[in-house]
Amino acid sequence: DVVVVGSANADLVVGVERRPAAGETVLGSDLAVHPGGKGGNQAVAAARLGSTVALVGRVGDDAHGRFLLDAQRAAGVDTRAVRVGGAPTGVALIVVGPRGDNSIVVSPGANALLSAQDVRASRDLLSAARVVSLQLEIPLETVAEAVAVVAPGTRVMLNASPSAPLPAPVLAACDPLVLNEHEALEMLGGATEDTPEAWCTALLERGPRSVVVTLGARGAVAADPSGVVRVPGIPVVAVDTTGAGDAFTGALASRLARGDTLAQAVGFAVRVGAAAVTRAGAQDSFPTAEQVPAAEGS
Ligand code: ADP
Repeated sequence: DVVVVGSANADLVVGVERRPAAGETVLGSDLAVHPGGKGGNQAVAAARLGSTVALVGRVGDDAHGRFLLDAQRAAGVDTRAVRVGGAPTGVALIVVGPRGDNSIVVSPGANALLSAQDVRASRDLLSAARVVSLQLEIPLETVAEAVAVVAPGTRVMLNASPSAPLPAPVLAACDPLVLNEHEALEMLGGATEDTPEAWCTALLERGPRSVVVTLGARGAVAADPSGVVRVPGIPVVAVDTTGAGDAFTGALASRLARGDTLAQAVGFAVRVGAAAVTRAGAQDSFPTAEQVPAAEGS
């Protein structure tokens, strides 16, 4: 149903009392290693909700790569289109301060080698998908190639994170373009006084077929040519918001592949995002369909 073309990283996390200044050494907590990367996270999120999911990506021929492939397979993701080798597996070096404040260095490694040719080699897989889901932790030309090879009946979604200027043909394929609040304001060129509904309308004028902006605890807003829909957030005790956006986007892909309308899919994805913040970790926190809080009135 869903094919994710994107990144896979090993997240290497150490807690510190204080971040080291240049030339300084500090002692930290035991190392924790978690599977991450937006592509890998979104594939796991959709698979855990019951979708048939394949990942097109690249990892190194190393222990981190095997660890990431194992995590994908354990969630039920088809990893046959994940290429191995050429560079070390992508890693995120994450230092967490006492108040949960992060400093992160990402080494893209093998993700940077995922090429347009790799995408063409997976053309049959992409053509058979109902939804192809993309993010921007792989080269933009690889994203552009994925957009170019999908069949006319396949829906393309792009989580434009981290922010980057998008070529017109990529933007025109997005159905939806998915952004968080920060990325939406960046694409709109800075702070605006307007409401999230107005951001969506302005973003729609840039060329995507539809737009979704996530608003953290406040939920999300979606727009397509038929109108704008606001979905309020679900009140929960947030334990760890890491990967909330990936849980949301994976859920959106899962539901759009099932044939939900955009408004229905966003309503579900907001509940999945809320469930994900109630547990620690990224992939570890993603809910199964049974663990998603029920919609109001159901
Ligand atoms: P990102 O992680 O990309 O910054 P957001 O913070 O907008 O994305 O979160 C994505 C989704 O996760 C939101 O639309 C919402 O459904 C859910 N979410 C995030 N934070 C909270 C929170 N504190 N309480 C409830 N839901 C949340």
